[in-house]
Amino acid sequence: MVDSLTVGPLVGGGLVLGYACPSMCRHCLYACGPHRKDGKPTLRELEGILDLLAERAPNARYHIGGGEPLLDRALLRRAIMGMRDRGLSLEYVETNAAWVSSPQQAVEVLAELESIGLRCVLVSVSPFHAEHIPFQKTRTLIEAARRVLPSGAFVWIQEFVPDILTQPEDQPLNFEALVDERGDPYALSLALRYGLVPGGRAGRYFEHYGRRLGWKDAARNAPCSNRLIDTSHFHVDGQARYVPGLCAGIVLPLEVLPGQVNLKAYPVIRTLLERDGLEKLVLQAMHLGFEPKEHYSAPCDLCTHVRLHLYKNRPTADLGPEGFYDPRSLVGFKG
Ligand code: SF4
Ligand code: SF4
Repeated sequence: MVDSLTVGPLVGGGLVLGYACPSMCRHCLYACGPHRKDGKPTLRELEGILDLLAERAPNARYHIGGGEPLLDRALLRRAIMGMRDRGLSLEYVETNAAWVSSPQQAVEVLAELESIGLRCVLVSVSPFHAEHIPFQKTRTLIEAARRVLPSGAFVWIQEFVPDILTQPEDQPLNFEALVDERGDPYALSLALRYGLVPGGRAGRYFEHYGRRLGWKDAARNAPCSNRLIDTSHFHVDGQARYVPGLCAGIVLPLEVLPGQVNLKAYPVIRTLLERDGLEKLVLQAMHLGFEPKEHYSAPCDLCTHVRLHLYKNRPTADLGPEGFYDPRSLVGFKG
């Protein structure tokens, strides 16, 4: 049995200002959407998290994300100023451009954020995002960022622009039509070009478009021992829950990190770290009535489904946040 998890210095992380998002992208690893109310800090909680980050990870490179962090601009301002005041290195704020209403408004919003220290925005660009937000808004934001911010816009991912521009840019993209014209292999290629991690809703996306394994095969070679100690892209949300690596739906309290974490209170992580841990977790869940689906796209897709069942039937401190396990979030597991 594995008793502890040793997590090294926290290297690169995102401060999540809530999981609410006007979009409901089919590829979203963190299963965000308009229905999510969780993960947003009060101003007091925000100050406490920033103090903790300054104490626990003063040298990490940070970004601010969500959900959509520009949904609450006052909160975002406080987060940027709080990082600046504590000497934390903020590289960018991640945004989907849903809030953009005109070129002038985009310039004004960014200029205000620049005045308190923002240098760059990461602008999400993909057919998954364009299905919800007309690309015209995204383009407007990129141009405004290039005018106003010292480091402009980090466009993630530029190479999707030609795919998006096969349809009018002043309308949300008709994703089904895009894929119907080109076939399922194209849908799968979009996921691969994006480098999607097959957890959250992305795991279901891969399965839907043809990457299919029986559960026993999906349980093999799960990358848990590497991912759970990966601190190069962690997240911390408004209730100071630390999400390790890219394991959406698994949490630890930020206050126990970095260092050696006693896993007694975190049985899901403890099982996943064992040899054949994911298969063991499935078998534990089967004792609680879990029935695997016929196919999964990858270990993380299976892991997400098992944890959804465990969250409902045997919730533990390492499963969260609550909104991730809301059936409206993980829509692909319905039925
Ligand atoms: S991928 Fe980004 S824009 Fe899309 S639902 Fe998730 S948080 Fe929102
Ligand atoms: S199988 Fe689960 S714990 Fe392992 S890497 Fe994937 S999401 Fe993380």
